[in-house]
Amino acid sequence: MINLEERSQVAFGKPLAQIGDAQVCRLLQDLVREHCQTLPIMEGKRRLYYVSAEFLIGRLLINDLINLGLYDEVREQLAQAGHDLAAVDDQEVEPSLGNGGLGRLAACFMDSVATLGLPGDGVGLNYHYGLFHQRFVDNQQTALPDEWLGEQDCLEDEGKSFEVQFGDFSVVSHLYSIDVPGYHNGKRNRLRLFDLEGVDDSLVPDDSIDFDKTKVAKNLTLFLYPDDSDEDGRLLRVYQQYFMVSNAAQLIVSEAVERGSNLHDLPDYAVVQINDTHPTMIIPELIRILTQEHGIDFEEAVGIVRHMVAYTNHTILAEALEKWPLEYLAKVAPKIAKIIELLDQMQREEHDDPAVAIIKDGTVHMAHLAIHYGFSVNGVAALHTKILEETELHPFYELYPEKFSNKTNGITFRRWLMGCNPDLTSLVDKTIGTDWHRTADLTPLMAHVDDDEVLDGLVEAKGKAKARMREFLLTHQGVTVPEDAIIDVQVKRIHEYKRQQMLALYLIWKYLDIKNGNKPARPITVVFGGKAAPAYTIAQDIIHLILTLSSWIANDPDVAPYLQVIMIENYNVSAAERVIPAADISEQISLASKEASGTSNMKFMLNGAVTLCTLDGANVEIADLVGEDNIYTFGTSSREVERLYAEGAYDPQAYYHKPGIKLLVDFITNPAFMATGNEERLRRLHDDMAHKDWFMALLDLEEYIQVKERVYADYEDRGAWVRKALVNVAQAGTFSSDRTIAQYNEDIWHLVPQK
Ligand SMILES: *Cc1c(COP(=O)(O)O)cnc(C)c1O
Repeated sequence: MINLEERSQVAFGKPLAQIGDAQVCRLLQDLVREHCQTLPIMEGKRRLYYVSAEFLIGRLLINDLINLGLYDEVREQLAQAGHDLAAVDDQEVEPSLGNGGLGRLAACFMDSVATLGLPGDGVGLNYHYGLFHQRFVDNQQTALPDEWLGEQDCLEDEGKSFEVQFGDFSVVSHLYSIDVPGYHNGKRNRLRLFDLEGVDDSLVPDDSIDFDKTKVAKNLTLFLYPDDSDEDGRLLRVYQQYFMVSNAAQLIVSEAVERGSNLHDLPDYAVVQINDTHPTMIIPELIRILTQEHGIDFEEAVGIVRHMVAYTNHTILAEALEKWPLEYLAKVAPKIAKIIELLDQMQREEHDDPAVAIIKDGTVHMAHLAIHYGFSVNGVAALHTKILEETELHPFYELYPEKFSNKTNGITFRRWLMGCNPDLTSLVDKTIGTDWHRTADLTPLMAHVDDDEVLDGLVEAKGKAKARMREFLLTHQGVTVPEDAIIDVQVKRIHEYKRQQMLALYLIWKYLDIKNGNKPARPITVVFGGKAAPAYTIAQDIIHLILTLSSWIANDPDVAPYLQVIMIENYNVSAAERVIPAADISEQISLASKEASGTSNMKFMLNGAVTLCTLDGANVEIADLVGEDNIYTFGTSSREVERLYAEGAYDPQAYYHKPGIKLLVDFITNPAFMATGNEERLRRLHDDMAHKDWFMALLDLEEYIQVKERVYADYEDRGAWVRKALVNVAQAGTFSSDRTIAQYNEDIWHLVPQK
């Protein structure tokens, strides 16, 4: 069917064997584009619009080839011509349209929505420079613009534009889209990204992400999450949010009308899922359009919108629950501010409780707006939803118990197993057949947990994945990982609640232990990766500690042969696809109650890593599925953590002064160590840990050290370990995003699947 040889001749006048990886990449991208364009767009009277500030889609080539059913054929033809698909894939620029788990979730969801044949699109913004590109200079993070747009981006011009009216000026948008083919179902949806007509890339210097934040009419779609440490930055975020939702709302209304809606029946034509609070202003914006542009009266418009917007909560961290001064909204979008005031009044007439007010002291609580005027609120893991219902959103749960539900997150197995781990995929295929490609049911593997052939196959697949990771780390940043090393990984955004600092303290402990002559049975390689928000000082300090420790250990000949610390530069989806398949240990050590779900925990499990975790987020569900013999848990329970916060009862000094802990924390500020790093950063981090430790790393540290030692010791019982790894793969099916999306559809969206 496909003939890459011929395509190569036509495009480059050369045989396939003689063109370079970059040219092969171009050929395949063209092939994918042509195939996508032959697929009909999914139709349905009622459509989903999944509105999100982020879509961390990663590279598209391999995932698209898999979904289009071209993967095996392409791989074979390339192999015959001496090309390796993975090397070709490395030529693709990764779109940088997200930040972390929330954006990656949106991307997995788009894949699953298309695969289940549901008519629904993602709607977001086309950021020219993404979040930022992370580079390490002097063991510190620097942030550079991440320029991903260019010849090979896969944006199609939809030729649609809308006008967006701000307080004292208006702008025009332009709509692009990226095809999202379903897995083997011959149809597609789209990721639809609005750009700003007249956006000015020259506002961004080459070597920094600082730009003039006041030139709103020219900068709106330059960056995701522009620095909001000053008022210009915060205002810009509000401008961006309104730009996103105004475009989304206009798109939704115009398409519903095209499909025959008279707008009084709009909920029969569209359901809007808002991914966290960033798109909340779509509620007043839809009301504005219905009332002011279509003459529907206010109460009816509110009723219409109340039946079509659903909200996903992603966090209970107070600083992440968005609140905007009403005056910002009044400046950016005065009509929207007015409507929010009316909605607030209406709500107060119904419920006289300040705890659920939308506007408090001139501040708009976006989540409250979404809960009152949406029809659904969901958490993203069982524990998280329970905390929302019982604690964080309890007053709302009392008012609207029927709106609340749990939808435990998931990941697409097309990318996170079939695409990133071909050797494990073929082992699974050989062992249980290929039904799991559709059903994600891997439990038939449970019949093989004592099957030596399968266990040996798993060791072999892990070995090959480790070889690919070693190659990646060597070319990406010039580090050599020992062949027989245990690979122990914590990759995710850098945040105090995720507690990378606790793993760093463990590494200090291990360093000192090895110095004292206790040599591990084999080399240990600990891999970190993650970006920190540029304005988040302590997170920058944590990166600095990790990088300084990494050099310190590498330069100590007594310890370096046994312990290695690597921090991946510019951790992104492509890096995740190299590292996760190679991992033996998955570090999920957030302070219990703080990680809403986590999704890297699911990716690791699916790829045969054993989880070392607190009972937080979806770790709780992983632990239930695999059983206590196949996971390592530790740490203070979420209930106890909540009590400590509520009573202000945690005192870090009491832990800091334990001799075993003080030694580790003080290592950070010992003069010889500080001389190799940045004194200000290291001192600040030391003092923060000793005196504040808001996320209680010291509370769980001693137990963490004990459990880690047990994990490393258990790893040496190779037979038992590999069995654990296989149980983890076998039980991962629950975490397919196809399951998650089927639940969203069943309980919230009610879309009719296209056969
Ligand atoms: C999956 C993923 C995340 C989310 O990781 P968590 O550990 O769940 O926070 C973040 N970044 C990238 C690139 C990912 O692929």
